[in-house]
Amino acid sequence: MLLDKFRALYHHIWSVLLRSRKYAASPMPAELLTDPLIDAALRRAWYESCPHGPAVPWGEPGSRKQEQGGWIVWNKQTGTLRVVRVSPGKRDGLATIRGTRPQGSDNEEVVAWFHTHPNTISEGYSPEPGPSDIAFTWQTARAPGLIETHKGRRTIPYPGP
Ligand SMILES: [Zn+2]
Repeated sequence: MLLDKFRALYHHIWSVLLRSRKYAASPMPAELLTDPLIDAALRRAWYESCPHGPAVPWGEPGSRKQEQGGWIVWNKQTGTLRVVRVSPGKRDGLATIRGTRPQGSDNEEVVAWFHTHPNTISEGYSPEPGPSDIAFTWQTARAPGLIETHKGRRTIPYPGP
């Protein structure tokens, strides 16, 4: 929908203008979710995933929705965060994030990955993290996951149980 595009642009502008807070230690997911920069980045990704596009039932072609996401990296020297986006995925997956995990360094640490679940329950989708989201968090991202959904934000803890 056009409104999604305007909102994506609005939050994109904020994500350019805003700086993150400064963190003396690796920030927790709860801190990330209330950080002005991260909040704008999550909202931008959300509206770019076309969450209010026409409803298309699971398994049928024609949906304009596509998962979006990326990485959140903490700079230990400056204390600030930066966001690394990946290419859009499909409506039901973000395969484009594979192989894109930023390399950690003495100065930088990956503190989260994030993505969107733009499909609705009435289309046949759950807002909750799926098994592949959890496996990716534990095995590949090795950092907590944040998910923007129609039912609010979800987090996947890391380390897991
Ligand atoms: Zn997911």
